[in-house]
Amino acid sequence: MAYVITDTCTKDNHCIEACPVNCIHPTPEEAGYEEAAQLFVNPGECIDCGACVPVCPTNSIYVLEELPAELAAFTDKNAAYYN
Ligand code: SF4
Ligand code: SF4
Repeated sequence: MAYVITDTCTKDNHCIEACPVNCIHPTPEEAGYEEAAQLFVNPGECIDCGACVPVCPTNSIYVLEELPAELAAFTDKNAAYYN
């Protein structure tokens, strides 16, 4: 399981700062940041701590069980960023 970021993300980077295992990318220092439409959670590294959720001002981050059906595609979109 992992948390999932959806396309209401505004790339304000609050979740990057909150994540204890640095599994949200791209960071502003990384290649591809400017081009990225949103940020993505690495499902292989996320420890399901939930720390990113309350810091997101746009409520763009979901625990998998609570991801609305219409946003289901973002599970694969987050994972695909790391493939
Ligand atoms: S805190 Fe929310 S809006 Fe900000 S970068 Fe993370 S997911 Fe995007
Ligand atoms: S749930 Fe925790 S480990 Fe997973 S992306 Fe959010 S802050 Fe990082």
